[in-house]
Amino acid sequence: MTELNSHINTSGGIPEDAAGGILHIDLDALASNWRSLRDHAGGAETAAVVKANAYGIGIERAVPALNGAGCRTFFVAHLSEAIRVRAVAPDATVYVLNGLFTGTSSTYAEFDLRPVLGSFEEIDEWAGFCRAQSQKRKAAIHVDTGMNRLGLTVPQGLTLRDRTELKDFETALLMSHFVSAEESDNPLNRQQIEALEAVRSSLPGIPASLPNSSGIFLGDKPAYDLVRPGYALYGGNPTPDRDNPMKPVVGLEARIVQLRWVEADHTVGYNGRWLALTRRRIATLSVGYADGYPRAASARGKSGDELLAGMALVAGRPCPFAGNVSMDLITIDVTDVPENQVQRGDTVTLIGGDLTVDEVGRRSGTIGYEILTNLGQRYARAYRGGQG
Ligand SMILES: *Cc1c(COP(=O)(O)O)cnc(C)c1O
Repeated sequence: MTELNSHINTSGGIPEDAAGGILHIDLDALASNWRSLRDHAGGAETAAVVKANAYGIGIERAVPALNGAGCRTFFVAHLSEAIRVRAVAPDATVYVLNGLFTGTSSTYAEFDLRPVLGSFEEIDEWAGFCRAQSQKRKAAIHVDTGMNRLGLTVPQGLTLRDRTELKDFETALLMSHFVSAEESDNPLNRQQIEALEAVRSSLPGIPASLPNSSGIFLGDKPAYDLVRPGYALYGGNPTPDRDNPMKPVVGLEARIVQLRWVEADHTVGYNGRWLALTRRRIATLSVGYADGYPRAASARGKSGDELLAGMALVAGRPCPFAGNVSMDLITIDVTDVPENQVQRGDTVTLIGGDLTVDEVGRRSGTIGYEILTNLGQRYARAYRGGQG
């Protein structure tokens, strides 16, 4: 018998034989995706967006792998995330997208981080801090060119050159964010490019940044100085109307804890939402919505229905979910898999092969971004490649 101690989390990891699900994270594929985006970026600096724990895969592993590939600039959403990036990338440039919260300037200075300033209030606070410290610290300025969410309006952006506060700090980057870059023929893309260009030309000499993952693939390639991919780094498809040019980074396996035959006219799961029309063999997996697998992937209907619902790959065969996804368990219909090819203790694939993160998102009524960023904390995490 294994000592209990070996199952206690000492290195931040959960042992595979004690976990309901095993998350495979390929850091070499992550690095390779970064290099291929860089090669696509037309000479622009290629940063990496590592907010939300690097889209679920782990900041502490993703950042060193990206740094090793040559990435020098990182974007996060929160100051707390930036401090985690700084801990593993002492020399990197780190931007915080969600802006400067009141009273946090000294924390930025302490960890050598850069706020992305999105309002005159934030600009004034950063300028005041830099003045008081007699140090022109670096920051980015965000101009909202259509999202109506974060950043100065374009008219405000056009007045920036007249503001004396801009002399108190160094504007290292002028940035905006695409609304619908994954729709390559959306006319909004061009309008946003033109709006940012207008602000940029009123502030000569400041590097500009617009494209996210999908923006890098737009036919329209304005000479922006820095690109900010997130999703594509982690294997998501930045070109949804074409084949995915990226390598998969994340795989998810779930353990079968039980198998049973369910007789015709019986239901499976909470609220009896799935009906076996004939005798069906059901496998119960040790993953549920508490692991971040969406409950919206529940299969409500009858055996044999082609439901837009969750799917697992068992011995290479697609097996549909049966019934509601519950907190810690998912039930799937494995009747079509030869009985000797599916046994208690086997693992099945929930993300992998044709079940890409985009496809799991589609089957859950959401997007792959949400699948990645909800990846649970109860999985054993098996990292491949990267540095050490
Ligand atoms: C999240 C985010 C990105 C990355 O977008 P992806 O679509 O994941 O590539 C880039 N810029 C900003 C401002 C963001 O919030």
